[in-house]
Amino acid sequence: MSAENAIPAPENPAATDELIRFDNVTKRFGKNTVLDNLCFSVKPGKHVTLIGPSGSGKTTILRLLMTLMKPEEGTIHVNGQQLYPTQGEKQLREIRKNIGMVFQQFNLFPNMTVLRNITEAPVRVLGLSKDEAEQRARDLLDLVGLGDRCDAKPTQLSGGQQQRVAIARALAMRPQVLLLDEVTSALDPELVAGVLDVLRDIARTTDITMLCVTHEMNFARDISDDVLMFDSGRVIESGPPEKIFGDPEHERTREFLGAVL
Ligand code: ADP
Repeated sequence: MSAENAIPAPENPAATDELIRFDNVTKRFGKNTVLDNLCFSVKPGKHVTLIGPSGSGKTTILRLLMTLMKPEEGTIHVNGQQLYPTQGEKQLREIRKNIGMVFQQFNLFPNMTVLRNITEAPVRVLGLSKDEAEQRARDLLDLVGLGDRCDAKPTQLSGGQQQRVAIARALAMRPQVLLLDEVTSALDPELVAGVLDVLRDIARTTDITMLCVTHEMNFARDISDDVLMFDSGRVIESGPPEKIFGDPEHERTREFLGAVL
């Protein structure tokens, strides 16, 4: 089963209820074709996980959505608006407001308190008042279990706590979609579970759409509506987690899961 068949892309993206849609997207670095004519879509509120071997192109998808790089070919839509080919900087900025991202490295501002890390973008980009932004930040810190650490600096927190602040910071912009790029890979093993539990809670209790690159297969099984298995820049198999983890069709998927599970 090819991904093109697994998640068919309707004719007119603006008329669909898809939040993210890639049509025939090709991304190359020099002679290296990293994404090869990729088609997939994600509906609002769904949690989609990208799995596959290192170097298969998963992170590149998130980076394209964050407008950190451009594809050579194809179109990308977010919420019916065309991200690529680009319509200009102003529109890109508008579309990007709908997208939050949490990286492997937490990338918090080291000189700011936890609270300020979270209020900075809502005040500057969304124009929230300081009071509104602080209230929103405190609620989110409660959600990620750090309500008592508002005044701490990032260096006073563990890696797991810093990552939970980074999750709160992304959510403070109230994005429609949260991109998660191997968010536990840089953590000591004993800190991983706390971060994944927070994400499980968010997946269960909010209607945010999630697109998640992870090597944590149990987590992927728990939160995903759909799992896309990548190999060499293509989706070789996709479906609900019970199917992909329980009865994969593709030999490459079986090999990969055999190595990581
Ligand atoms: P994955 O997330 O599946 O591990 P990536 O999307 O990070 O894969 O990378 C896919 C391929 O693209 C790899 O071969 C990687 O070396 C290459 N790549 C990623 N970013 C760049 C870049 N900025 N310049 C050159 N090659 C890159």
